[in-house]
Amino acid sequence: MFMTELRWPDGVGKCPHCGSTRVVWLDKARVWKCYEKHSRSRFSLKTGTIFEDSPLGLDKLPQSGSW
Ligand SMILES: [Zn+2]
Repeated sequence: MFMTELRWPDGVGKCPHCGSTRVVWLDKARVWKCYEKHSRSRFSLKTGTIFEDSPLGLDKLPQSGSW
């Protein structure tokens, strides 16, 4: 959860699309959900970061230097 702490030091998630803090962490889906009514209401921690457009996902970074 260090990514959450890195982006949101206060521990509160924030929607990257509308900026609302009315978001909830869906533990089963491993995504955040925004309560505001707009498309793409679900987002992950990758959304809005440098990793969003990267071909390498966060889960693949540890192996990126091993090949
Ligand atoms: Zn939103």
